[in-house]
Amino acid sequence: MEGNLFGLGKTELEQLAVDCEQPKYRGKQLFRNLYARRVRDLAACTDIPVNFREDLGSRYRVGWPEIKSRVASQDGAVRYLLTLHDGENIETVYMPIENRVTLCLSSQVGCAVGCSFCFTALLGVKRNLTAGEIVGQVAAVLEAQQVAAETPVNLVFMGMGEPLLNLEAVMKAVGIFSDSNGFALALRRMTVSTAGVIPQIRKFAEEPARPRLAVSLNASSDQQRTALMPLNRKYPLKELLQTCREFPLGPREYVTFEYVLLNGVNDSDDDARRVAALVRGIKCKLNLIPFNPGSELPYNPSPLERVLGFQDVLRSRDVPAYIRISRGQDVMAACGQLRLGAMNPATAPMEASL
Ligand code: SAH
Ligand code: SF4
Repeated sequence: MEGNLFGLGKTELEQLAVDCEQPKYRGKQLFRNLYARRVRDLAACTDIPVNFREDLGSRYRVGWPEIKSRVASQDGAVRYLLTLHDGENIETVYMPIENRVTLCLSSQVGCAVGCSFCFTALLGVKRNLTAGEIVGQVAAVLEAQQVAAETPVNLVFMGMGEPLLNLEAVMKAVGIFSDSNGFALALRRMTVSTAGVIPQIRKFAEEPARPRLAVSLNASSDQQRTALMPLNRKYPLKELLQTCREFPLGPREYVTFEYVLLNGVNDSDDDARRVAALVRGIKCKLNLIPFNPGSELPYNPSPLERVLGFQDVLRSRDVPAYIRISRGQDVMAACGQLRLGAMNPATAPMEASL
């Protein structure tokens, strides 16, 4: 077997067809079979001649990540543990919200950024995901959840990893998601969240067709942010916010800032005032995320009154601020809590009835 067809882009599939002495349009047919029809077996590609199918089948597989386990939360969120072909595990979270579905995707196995409030940081980074592994999360979870084709699907890169440190694979996956012959998902429903890797934000800004940008702010001063997010030493607030200010936005687009509220650390009224000053002049909204606690992490969630107080200060300064209640908290499925279940038997995922 030479490799996996799943994850190849349209041009690669067209080239593959030509290399196999087939007309170029067979590549587009393969693309549609892989990403619109989502066949698991080349035998199901009935619009492709049998000899080409057999030729491909002798050298390629159609490989999706394998669902190892899943656990359902009371609020409808389902956390999936997926195994990749090399045995590494990643997590993807399914969140139904009214008539829509949001999938929280991983971009790396682990993360190297090392934020002190994040579970994924405890793993370090093992490797980047391939485009096929990113696309495969969506294929596997949409199929397992039997999501109807007409359901609007939001994709957020807020699972394991720093997506802008794997920009090439992320953008290749985005191309497959947004293609009308692929998943046909709307770009405006996709969000890439970054801890603030400035040169990569600039590269992302240059992409001709890209998802929306979210930036994890999480602090109101450099001193505070460096203590929480060590990358702030290299990419401090002033430069980060200047980069956001220069980020080219479409007419209805805005930058989302995420702010994890940690009790007594970054959640005072003064913090909120400083945050309002920091984001001034940026078309943005702020998502306030109550911290999801875990035994290894030395923080506590801010009490609800504090969360509301923080929101009030921002709103009184005309900064749109929303409280994002993390879904799936009871099964540790909230963003930032993604970790290998095997690391801690107490939080290991179990098969749950859905
Ligand atoms: N690496 C990217 C995307 C993945 S993290 C980034 O940092 O933006 C996605 C979001 O989860 C980030 O906004 C992060 O601040 C938040 N997060 C991490 N750990 C968390 C925790 N324990 N509780 C609540 N949110 C957390
Ligand atoms: Fe990585 Fe994001 Fe977690 Fe920071 S918050 S360690 S960047 S996944």
